[in-house]
Amino acid sequence: MKLDPLIKAYALEHKKEFSLFKQAIKRYDRIAIFRHIRPDFDAMGTQMGLYTFIRDNFPEKEVHFLGDNHVNYTPRIFPETERLNESWFKEPFLAIVCDVGDHERIADPRYRYASYICKVDHHPFIKEIAKHPILDINKPAAAELMCDILLSWEGTTLSKEAARYFYIGIVGDSGRFQYRNTSGHTFAVAKALIDTGIDINSIYLEMYERSLEDLKSEAYILSNFHVSPHGVAYYILSDETLHELGITREEGKDNVNLFSNIAGVNAWCSVTEDKSSVKDYCWRLSIRSKAKDISKVANKWRGGGHALASGAKVKSLDELPLLIADLDALFA
Ligand code: AMP
Repeated sequence: MKLDPLIKAYALEHKKEFSLFKQAIKRYDRIAIFRHIRPDFDAMGTQMGLYTFIRDNFPEKEVHFLGDNHVNYTPRIFPETERLNESWFKEPFLAIVCDVGDHERIADPRYRYASYICKVDHHPFIKEIAKHPILDINKPAAAELMCDILLSWEGTTLSKEAARYFYIGIVGDSGRFQYRNTSGHTFAVAKALIDTGIDINSIYLEMYERSLEDLKSEAYILSNFHVSPHGVAYYILSDETLHELGITREEGKDNVNLFSNIAGVNAWCSVTEDKSSVKDYCWRLSIRSKAKDISKVANKWRGGGHALASGAKVKSLDELPLLIADLDALFA
């Protein structure tokens, strides 16, 4: 495959980091690939694309993918996570951590036992996870960055199966090629993926197909949202409401972008009750913004993420007005 000049130039600019990454893969016969907790399309697409690429090009290596499953995407779009028992981690192995900037958010803590750790990510740097991370916060998706590395790897091939995973990752985190960091480079990578023969029509259907239940949830949200004085829209879904609507917390959260193109709405959030752990009981916020950086507010409220897409937590709904006031103050 002839490489696009943008991909070639980027690979040249990052030659050192890319070659350290490739050498690490060559050096280890046992590899485990990690992603962030509560995975999204990009975390899973990057991880599974890399897994498939290694399996296809280095069949002699033992490679695994780890992390919690997604309530809707596994096994429909991605395979169920592998279960590896403790003894596997006692022998030397390479850990590759994808799409996560923080130790606490790596879905399986056993990356710590690795002989060597690599990281490929587009989240703002928080703490060192790997000595030589490949990090570019200007990439719309970690999958784009992973493709930059793998497409420039001479003597390897990118299969249709790997390309499908990476395409899902890029489409997911770039909001179907619309968010700010989407660039000509993103399209160059997407072209390389499409040229493998993937069926993008069926990919979009798998990713975005909705049910009649989804429409009922949308109707509920559109009848029950709030807007702060300076345009922070938010909706609250308690565990009880989620049950009544027949949807999961993740599905409730996924409606957040109903508010993305509304005049006068500067930022928008979903607030969903998370009863999955007694110890970690909280209400989770997915926060999105049109233009202003909301990540500092997310950091303050037990979360983090990107400038225009972050997550946060409140311990009870009593705290919510304070968080909304912090967001509202950004637009005063
Ligand atoms: P979400 O709203 O869950 O889709 O997350 C949006 C972005 O914020 C993703 O990049 C997440 O990795 C990040 N994020 C979400 N929740 C947290 C959290 N509690 N701490 C740090 N980052 C988060």
